[in-house]
Amino acid sequence: MTSTENEAHRRDGADPGHRHLFHVPPADGGRYPESAYLAGNSLGLQPRATRTELLADLDAWSRLGVEGHLEAERPWLPYHGLLTAPAARLVGARPSETVVMNSLTVNLHLLMVSFYRPAGERTRIVIEDTAFPSDSYAVRSQARFHGLDPDTTVVRLRPRDGEENLRTEDVTAFLAAEGHTVALVLLGGVNYLTGELLDIPAITAAGRAAGAVVGWDLAHAAGNVPLSLHDWDVDFAAWCSYKYLNSGPGALAGVFVHERHHGDTGLPRFEGWWSTAADTRFEMTPVSRPPATVEAWQISNPPIFAMGPVRTSLELFDAVGMPALRDRSLRLTGYLERLLDEVTADRPLTVVTPRDPARRGCQLSVRIGTGNANELTKRLRHEHGVIADAREPDIVRFAPVPLYSTYHDCWRVADALAATVEATS
Ligand SMILES: *Cc1c(COP(=O)(O)O)cnc(C)c1O
Repeated sequence: MTSTENEAHRRDGADPGHRHLFHVPPADGGRYPESAYLAGNSLGLQPRATRTELLADLDAWSRLGVEGHLEAERPWLPYHGLLTAPAARLVGARPSETVVMNSLTVNLHLLMVSFYRPAGERTRIVIEDTAFPSDSYAVRSQARFHGLDPDTTVVRLRPRDGEENLRTEDVTAFLAAEGHTVALVLLGGVNYLTGELLDIPAITAAGRAAGAVVGWDLAHAAGNVPLSLHDWDVDFAAWCSYKYLNSGPGALAGVFVHERHHGDTGLPRFEGWWSTAADTRFEMTPVSRPPATVEAWQISNPPIFAMGPVRTSLELFDAVGMPALRDRSLRLTGYLERLLDEVTADRPLTVVTPRDPARRGCQLSVRIGTGNANELTKRLRHEHGVIADAREPDIVRFAPVPLYSTYHDCWRVADALAATVEATS
């Protein structure tokens, strides 16, 4: 490598992130005290504020018991509302269109109850061939739930032969040609494997023009790239909060339903006491009166101690702002890309993420020509203190997260790869 460690340190001095607000795991390998944590696309780091905030909510329970529903400093009854506005800002939605609840795949199912309604020849669900496994299982089980054959109902879009990523024009051409058979388009905004950012507005427009419902899984997009779900006319979306949103393992997830669907009594929906207007929750009449907002998709009263970390994290995103994060992300990932180019030139390593910064978030995925991504990832961690994420057989994913990753982290990735993977010349 010709790039120097000193240059990385200089860049960190000029363009510091917010690493000091997070707990960074200590490093294996001895040379540096902290790990170079590039796995925030898999599980984000813990904000230092999370513990204090969580303890305050626990204290309210110990002091107040059941009265905490109304008398806690942050009363539990309307607690979920504290998360609504910052979540809406994060994804470019109106507050009435966003709610935090459940986990991601559960929410996808609840949304498909309403938005996957196969009829006549319009039965198919379009996903990407490299969809996250959970999404693939979810849509296949929805097809079976409707008495349909998942093998013919679920269409898996593939890149062209010899290419790594989907082309927008191929997706929109497919929808123009076959959209009349498509009931639901459900794609990942940022692909979990390749890091490709799809053209969400263009594909949404093409899907809706073809008469399909268009939903997005934003697990790898929320907190990673700017989103404008309302203006893009997305029908619905769902995302988790434990990746870029740093809310902890299995954290509560987010949901978006466009306001044009609010109050539509023709939509099937699963309900509980939290689906009806707050003042009718305890009514003994067997009739629910859902609010004309996304909150009609809620079912149960929410877990307060799970909401605390999401609230803390969303406040952090609000304070820093997605535009500033995206700017730093472009600089950081561009720098990692340049370092990887130096290392991969004479090694069996290939960056498979799109080269165009507009078509990716912060993640860069590297294909290991010799296979065995797990083995390489273990060596990076134990010998160099670099924490990355392997997808067998041959992809290693590196995500310099703009909130807390550093230029020096990026340098350590490239330096560790150079030391671990033998050069071919
Ligand atoms: C991480 C991820 C999931 C995980 O689903 P859970 O329900 O949170 O376990 C699902 N889909 C995508 C695209 C993901 O990236």
